[in-house]
Amino acid sequence: MANINNNFSKLAAGYLFPEIARRTNSFLQEHPDVELMKLGIGNTTEALSKTLVEAMKDKLDQLSNRETYTGYGDEQGDTQLRVALKDYYKNYGVELDATEFFVSDGAKADAANIQELFSKDSIVAFQDPAYPVYVDSNVVAGRTEGYDKEKQGYSNFVYLPCTEENNFVPEIPQSKVDLIYLCSPNNPTGAVMTHQELKAFVDYANENKAVIIFDSAYSEYIIDPSLPRSIYEVEGAKSCAIEINSFSKNAGFTGVRLGWTIVPKELVCQNSEPGVINSMWNRRQCTFFNGASNIAQAGGLSALSGSGLEECKELVSYYMGNAKIIKEGLESVNIVCYGGVNSPYIWAKTPNNMTSWEFFDYLLRECHVVITPGSGFGPSGENFIRVSSYGHRENVEKAIESIKENFKNVN
Ligand SMILES: *Cc1c(COP(=O)(O)O)cnc(C)c1O
Repeated sequence: MANINNNFSKLAAGYLFPEIARRTNSFLQEHPDVELMKLGIGNTTEALSKTLVEAMKDKLDQLSNRETYTGYGDEQGDTQLRVALKDYYKNYGVELDATEFFVSDGAKADAANIQELFSKDSIVAFQDPAYPVYVDSNVVAGRTEGYDKEKQGYSNFVYLPCTEENNFVPEIPQSKVDLIYLCSPNNPTGAVMTHQELKAFVDYANENKAVIIFDSAYSEYIIDPSLPRSIYEVEGAKSCAIEINSFSKNAGFTGVRLGWTIVPKELVCQNSEPGVINSMWNRRQCTFFNGASNIAQAGGLSALSGSGLEECKELVSYYMGNAKIIKEGLESVNIVCYGGVNSPYIWAKTPNNMTSWEFFDYLLRECHVVITPGSGFGPSGENFIRVSSYGHRENVEKAIESIKENFKNVN
């Protein structure tokens, strides 16, 4: 007699994107001739660059020939790729070993799976608002009794509000927590933590034998050289932090699929010696995962070459050009904007205290633009919207022109 994993039923309904689709479709049914413009999606839109395409085509040619064919690759990911990643971190002054890198098919699954390394009774802290996978994976793992309407969050979970008052950078937890998820540059707020702000978390984690799970999927969007791109730029981070990153947003690999996780040998927690957590993740990945596609890994390796890096930089600049157009456009009609400088997301405040969904409806009906309501990322996202700079330039321009023309200071 099988029983389902009841933790799944604790998940608050996947409300955000289905609800966006529902409202959008119902508007389109009433107004079939309207062409909607989307500034809502966190998905890349521009073509893969030349160096990356060539490398993946070459790999495919090798696979087409029995003399050069390869099957399963190296444990933890292609050795050359892990060495290239390690060398890349040296640019930030970070010294890591290739054995501390684990290549994956993307950051999202790693962000979901990493909590398996820690005991079920761990107290977990999250930024509010946050990318949903951190919270949901811990719900499914059974670390909460369920959603608490009064708390506007799950029982046992610690929420670290990110608000205008704290510049969308959370305070360190007031109580003792065991795991802390941080994402910088942040999706959805676009906020980037400084060295000093990250250092406060690193110190907290080392003092409390807590572990930070640091998602740096947007690190390549940081243009301000004073801001840390890796948590390991902060002294003491190797003993308390795991870093997760991806080729999705800087190389346009959202569909190709390639990422990596760093578990330093020095990392410890309450009941582990150095090296133990690294070995556990190795065991976990070797047992439950058979590696990223060798074609994707060839593409990733080329993305770290001279011309690859240059092309990826151009791609990021393209999206950041969109971000500038969006931010300036919204500000020109007096919408207060945050983010969008070292991050592809603009976190815009709703006018006149409208709720996120009210402003969503307004922009849909009056401007024919679809954005993402901030409240979908957590209670502190209320009264904000997330505007994404992923899109073709001409579409972004059209959407912003429409907002400029049709947005009337809503009263
Ligand atoms: C897009 C994104 C990722 C990347 O996920 P992949 O699985 O590598 O495509 C990770 N974290 C955040 C916060 C993201 O927005």
